[in-house]
Amino acid sequence: MGTLRLILGDQLTRGISALDGLDKDRDVVLLAEVREEGTYVRHHKQKIALILSAMRHFAEALRHEGIKIDYIRLDDPENTGLLTGELARALQRHRLSHAVMTEPGEWRLREAFLSWQRDTGAYFDMREDTRFIASHSRFERWANGRKGLRMEFFYRELRRETGLLMEDGEPASGQWNFDADNRKPVPKSVITPGRLRFEPDAITRDVMVLVEREFPSHFGSLETFGWPVTRAEARRALSHFIKEVLPSFGDYQDAMRADAPFLFHSLISTSLNIGLLTPREVCLSAETAWREGDVPINAAEGFIRQVLGWREYVRGIYWLKMPGYADTNFLDARERLPDFYWTGETKMRCISDVVRQTQSHAYSHHIQRLMVTGNFALLSGIAPKEIEEWYLAVYADAFDWVELPNTHGMAIFADGGLLASKPYAASGAYINRMSDFCGGCVYDPKARPGRTPCPFNALYWAFLIRNESRLSGNARLAMPYRTLAGWSRQRREGIMEEAATIMARMRQGEL
Ligand SMILES: Cc1cc2nc3c(=O)[nH]c(=O)nc-3n(C[C@H](O)[C@H](O)[C@H](O)COP(=O)(O)OP(=O)(O)OC[C@H]3O[C@@H](n4cnc5c(N)ncnc54)[C@H](O)[C@@H]3O)c2cc1C
Ligand code: SF4
Repeated sequence: MGTLRLILGDQLTRGISALDGLDKDRDVVLLAEVREEGTYVRHHKQKIALILSAMRHFAEALRHEGIKIDYIRLDDPENTGLLTGELARALQRHRLSHAVMTEPGEWRLREAFLSWQRDTGAYFDMREDTRFIASHSRFERWANGRKGLRMEFFYRELRRETGLLMEDGEPASGQWNFDADNRKPVPKSVITPGRLRFEPDAITRDVMVLVEREFPSHFGSLETFGWPVTRAEARRALSHFIKEVLPSFGDYQDAMRADAPFLFHSLISTSLNIGLLTPREVCLSAETAWREGDVPINAAEGFIRQVLGWREYVRGIYWLKMPGYADTNFLDARERLPDFYWTGETKMRCISDVVRQTQSHAYSHHIQRLMVTGNFALLSGIAPKEIEEWYLAVYADAFDWVELPNTHGMAIFADGGLLASKPYAASGAYINRMSDFCGGCVYDPKARPGRTPCPFNALYWAFLIRNESRLSGNARLAMPYRTLAGWSRQRREGIMEEAATIMARMRQGEL
């Protein structure tokens, strides 16, 4: 008797554990496009197109190997719209009693499969996802009994275990961390490199038509679609990045520039998250480029820290702390998400530009996510669920296991500091220093006479005042709280009033 092997849309890796032990003569591999996965949030059209196109290409590649594929299309009239529904139908259709899958990356989906198994009593094997460098048990072993779960220490252990950027048991070039070298604003004179984008082929074009027809009201545009949809394309994009872009990745890692949505970032998160690339090969490519003298250590380390450090760490936190993690709201944030997060229609140029870039590309880089849209959500007290749904919907790389800790923990501090040692709250001065957004904005980050002050400024101080009882003990916020201690009562009240006016204007769509 054969086995039904279910592959999900973010599991498009030939070495995925669901395919271990595949018997080409008897087994059937199932891939199913279902409406539920396209609509549980209103995903960006490019995200849906990316996943469906990559699934169709992956199925083709397996077929070429002589593997039996059962592919269910979104518009198949019999399609139940649910992954569990399609699994059940396929078991019947192929008269199989045993199904295998690799664990889903999202709590929601894992629960749906486990509850289906409990209800039906199906013979169903859910295997660990071995594509990550750290297994669940590896992360739990590290976390167990620790007071603080800081990424830096987990990252160092993984560096030692993998040998990445290590020399004789010591970190290469004598330092674990080159962050201090990686905070330069990017001068206007620096020319940003062109990026490798991929012209949609016939399969992708078909999918794009389907997405426009089935999800017309979803966020974003398909016009600029150029994501890699096959492993071969993803490998080419990776090589191009390593050769042409990585050398400057470190220097300008924290910078933003209005005319350069990608700056020196890698754009590999979509390929990593759906399985076209593995984190191990990505880190090894960067390390090799450094060993061969093609990239400086601050760039190689800064990049490997993101993939080996942050990516593995946030996944560890997610599975360690779910499902309760998603329900914490340390700062008691309750505000509704303003419409401009969807439309880009605000006079705040930084937010307007980032939202419009997101509409066009289903992408914005880390500092834009953290210090523009994330920072504003933090300062204005947007409710965690509202802003998390936005981040999950608008980026082509968004999957709950990586989006949730980044938003809930890093951007809006809703976990009270489990992930970040302090809230990433910043006034307009930070955005002005690290970007050129403010130059073309009606607001003024320096609050000069005759100009309208930047909303981030009053919101920043009001945030600190509002959350004083929760945050003033945080050593990393000692400086701003010392400044506040020198303020008169009137000055504090003045800022709170100014912030209340800004919030009222935000609610009325006038910001
Ligand atoms: C509020 C918020 C939400 C985010 N949501 C997502 C998400 O849904 N999906 C996602 O993949 N990343 C998310 N990130 C992390 C990060 O912003 C993206 O991984 C990155 O911008 C992707 O672009 P890139 O491939 O050009 O990354 P680069 O800057 O070139 O970094 C290289 C790779 O490192 C990894 N990486 C970097 N930073 C992180 C991080 N903080 N957590 C996990 N991996 C990281 C990614 O795989 C990325 O591709 C989020 C960050 C914030 C602040
Ligand atoms: S002035 Fe303020 S709102 Fe305008 S771009 Fe700068 S930080 Fe953003």
